[in-house]
Amino acid sequence: MILGLDYIIITTILLILLIPLYIYRKVFIKKFNKKPDIGYFIKDITFSLKTNYPKFVFDFKIINKYSNEPNFKTQQILIIEDLIKQFIKKEFVFSTQKNVEKKYLWLTYEENSRLKKDNKLPSDWMQRKNAALKRDKNKCNRCEYSVSKKNSHALLIKQMKDGGGFNFENIVILCNDCNRIIKSNYNENIYHDLHIMDELLNKIHK
Ligand SMILES: [Zn+2]
Repeated sequence: MILGLDYIIITTILLILLIPLYIYRKVFIKKFNKKPDIGYFIKDITFSLKTNYPKFVFDFKIINKYSNEPNFKTQQILIIEDLIKQFIKKEFVFSTQKNVEKKYLWLTYEENSRLKKDNKLPSDWMQRKNAALKRDKNKCNRCEYSVSKKNSHALLIKQMKDGGGFNFENIVILCNDCNRIIKSNYNENIYHDLHIMDELLNKIHK
């Protein structure tokens, strides 16, 4: 069999082109098998937590605990779960809140601040919640997450059974997550139901 000249030329060119690939094979393999950098993920979640939960001090040193985890996704999930468990565990101290300026109070405010015999909330409870939200600049009292009327809760500091009334000093504003955490008595197992969990899972780098 006689090979044509053009066939020999093309084969030679192809072989020459493959030489650098062979020489630098280790570099190519390294490039394609590189484990993603955890640094970008850490930067991302640190920024997000400090911006959205400014009152909350997270211990980011726990990240080192998971540095030997070989699977990148698992490593990120373990870090997220650890940070959220910190968020759950921190006990909230209920303390007396500020009043609102007198000019913002209404005629029946004082009267409706007193406890009712039937243990029901006063008819102007929503008005109180909205004014307390305004007083707190729409921030959760436990973590300072930005809230609106829809995703916030107004809680009494001193409970009705203990004689607490509905005056502003006794009303505290909390976000959905903090309200849920306190109601669960700081139960770590509720972390999957929290909004902060969804927020951080969205930050996972592929
Ligand atoms: Zn909160």
